[in-house]
Amino acid sequence: MYPENFAYFRPKTIAEASALLKKNKGARVLAGGHSLLPAMKLRLATPKALVDIGGIKGLCGIQMRGKTIWIGATTTHAEVASSAIVRKSCPMLAETAAQIGDLQVRNRGTIGGSIAHADPAADYPTALICLGATVVARGPKGERKIPAEKFFVDLFTTALKGGEIVTAVLVAPRGKGQGAAYVKHPHPASRYAVAGVAAAVEIEDGRIARASVVVGGVTASPVRAAAAEEALAGKKADPAAISAASSRLADSLPDPMGDLYASGEYRVHLAAVLAKRALTAAVERAKG
Ligand SMILES: Cc1cc2nc3c(=O)[nH]c(=O)nc-3n(C[C@H](O)[C@H](O)[C@H](O)COP(=O)(O)OP(=O)(O)OC[C@H]3O[C@@H](n4cnc5c(N)ncnc54)[C@H](O)[C@@H]3O)c2cc1C
Repeated sequence: MYPENFAYFRPKTIAEASALLKKNKGARVLAGGHSLLPAMKLRLATPKALVDIGGIKGLCGIQMRGKTIWIGATTTHAEVASSAIVRKSCPMLAETAAQIGDLQVRNRGTIGGSIAHADPAADYPTALICLGATVVARGPKGERKIPAEKFFVDLFTTALKGGEIVTAVLVAPRGKGQGAAYVKHPHPASRYAVAGVAAAVEIEDGRIARASVVVGGVTASPVRAAAAEEALAGKKADPAAISAASSRLADSLPDPMGDLYASGEYRVHLAAVLAKRALTAAVERAKG
C-alpha cells in the first residue's frame, strides 16, 4: 500500500517545526512513524506534509532535572526501558516501555509520538496518568505544561492545540514508601494492551496513605478507577484490601469497548484481574 503524496520537511528547531505546521495546512509531525506511517499507507491519514522532528537537537534523552525525570519527546521506548535513571527512580515506567510492541517498534517508536497518538490500547497513557506525569508542549503561543490526566481527551484525541509539539514528559521519581507497577494483557500479535492497569501506592505505618489506579484499553482513553482508590485509602496494605479494591474496578468502567478481540465484558473482567496483580506488585515495591 502506498500513501498519498506529501511534502517532507526536516526542521532543526522546534520554532521552525511549529512554524511549518502552522504554514502547511494539514501537516503532521513525524516522530518514529510507527503509528503514522501505517495509517498513511492504509489512507486512514492523508497529511499534505510531514514535519520530521527527528533532527531537532534537545528533544531526545533522559535526565534528572532537579527532582524531576525529564524525558525528551523523541526518546524511543527502548531508551526509556534501558535507562539507568528510569530503572532506578521509576522502574514501573521502564517496565511499561519494555512491554510495548516488539524490538523494532521499541527502537523506532517515541514517547512523544505514543502519547500524541493517544491510541486507546497504548501503554504509556495509562502509566503516565497513574504516575501523575506532566506533558510539556510547545507551539506558536509558547510552552504549556499539561497534567497527563488532562492530556488524553478521547479516542486518538489529546489536549494539544494547532501547531503544538510535545517536547518532553516530566515524571517524579518514586520515593520511600512508594511503589508502582503496570500490568497488561497483550494482544498476542501486536502486543497492544487488550487491557492494562497501572497502580501506584504510598504506604505509611503499614497503611495505604494514597493509591492511584488507572485502567487502559477498556475505554476510549484511560480511566481512573476512583472506587478502587477510595476502597484502598487508609486500609492495611494487605491482600484483603487489594482484593476488595479490585472488585470495585467495574464501578469505573460502565461503558467498556468491545471489538473483534475482546468483548467489553471480558475487558472489564481482565481489568479487575490485572488490577489485583498491579496493586500486589506496587505494594511489594512500596514495602521495599
Ligand atoms: C506492530 C506494532 C505494535 C505496537 N505495539 C504497541 C504496544 O504494545 N503498545 C503501545 O503503546 N504502542 C504500540 N505500538 C505503537 C508504537 O508505540 C508507536 O511507536 C507509537 O504509538 C507512535 O510513536 P511514534 O514515535 O512512532 O509516532 P508517529 O507514528 O511518528 O506519530 C504518531 C502520531 O503522533 C504525532 N506526533 C508524533 N510525535 C509528536 C510530538 N512530539 N508532538 C506532537 N505530535 C506528535 C504524529 O503527527 C502522529 O499523529 C505498536 C506499533 C506497531 C506498528
